[in-house]
Amino acid sequence: MPAQLINGNALSQQLRADCAQRAAALTAQGMQPGLAVILVGEDPASQVYVRNKVKACLDAGLHSVKEDYPADMTEEALLARIAALNEDPSIHGILVQMPLPKHINPSRIIEAIATHKDVDGYSVLSAGEVMTGLPGFRPCTPYGCMKMIESTGVDIRGKHAVVIGRSNTVGKPMALMLLQANATVTICHSATPDLALYTRQADIVVAAVGRRNTLTGDMIKPGAIVVDVGINRDEAGKLCGDVDFASAVEVAGYISPVPGGVGPMTITMLLINTIEAAERRLASQAAR
Ligand code: NAP
Repeated sequence: MPAQLINGNALSQQLRADCAQRAAALTAQGMQPGLAVILVGEDPASQVYVRNKVKACLDAGLHSVKEDYPADMTEEALLARIAALNEDPSIHGILVQMPLPKHINPSRIIEAIATHKDVDGYSVLSAGEVMTGLPGFRPCTPYGCMKMIESTGVDIRGKHAVVIGRSNTVGKPMALMLLQANATVTICHSATPDLALYTRQADIVVAAVGRRNTLTGDMIKPGAIVVDVGINRDEAGKLCGDVDFASAVEVAGYISPVPGGVGPMTITMLLINTIEAAERRLASQAAR
């Protein structure tokens, strides 16, 4: 029997309906959640991502400011904008779209964002919060993958999860979140000699590589949950993930497609983090 689809669009719709309710409740209390999205340069893919993020905010009743700057913006000027947004009470989340032009140090920029507004969860402090299980902001993509895995209803506790990829923004936080949920976790990467040896033992596989056909049906344990984070193009130019969907769907128990899987969930988790930031602000005001 083919795998059940983990439909990121449908799950996103459910979660965004809840976001809209939470945003309306906050707005009624004078705290409309606000997200600032900064884009430096004219990278076409980044322009699409930024537009989609802003639109998702507006659709859910959040306030969103989009700031576009030319590619020759200086690092100092960008730092000054972040400092101003850190102080802006109408803004609860700040997102700087990556990649930045070469002359700007991304770490300096990320670390300049106030931790309580780091809704992308990319700062060292946010990473530490994920690692220690403190309630900070989880990076949106692995956070969305967790929601997708949870949506299957399968108990993560005690399962063997294999994460393919170890980037700071996807693979590593993904592994830590699965660990926090009591999975036994293996992390594979480009120096892993026999990937299939690990993936064949996995009850849950998250592929976050950026190379199509990294995971094929013969590498999957029957019934496993497969989440495909990758964004690639096939030889016909069609969008595809890291997983060979046609062979994997015949073996897996649950599988997320590309497109329509992790992509919409990433944006949804950005909304959730921004709302959470506004809720925390309201709670801290009430406690004063
Ligand atoms: P990244 O920083 O390039 O990391 C890729 C990881 O894959 C690295 O850890 C690398 O290992 C590992 N890798 C490369 N070749 C491998 C192989 N043959 N076998 C096993 N592991 C291998 O990429 P990323 O930012 O994590 O993103 C991964 C993919 O997810 C990309 O396609 C990206 O576009 C996509 N993505 C999608 C979303 C979304 O919203 N849908 C969000 C973020 C990212 P080493 O560390 O050893 O080099």
